[in-house]
Amino acid sequence: MSNKQDEKIFRDKFKGIQRRQKLILIFVAIVYVVLLSYLIKFDEILGQLSRELEFAIAVILILPVVFILINWRCPKCGAFLGRKFTDQCPKCGLKLK
Ligand SMILES: [Zn+2]
Repeated sequence: MSNKQDEKIFRDKFKGIQRRQKLILIFVAIVYVVLLSYLIKFDEILGQLSRELEFAIAVILILPVVFILINWRCPKCGAFLGRKFTDQCPKCGLKLK
């Protein structure tokens, strides 16, 4: 397979990665808003949170981070692409756009 074809495959893969990244960010935004309003209500009723609820919240907050750490990687070398959006892999230099 030629380099050009390889690059196209990686770019297509990266499009999928970007799509998943957008979806998780939308999901996170919705969950955080719902969770926040729920917590405010809960706080008013009980005055404090139960241990189980604290644990559930921790899981909900950590899961998207884990997902992003797994998903947001270079399709060629697997390096994490960092918090800022780049159009090039910081490790192998693969052009992502
Ligand atoms: Zn790379």
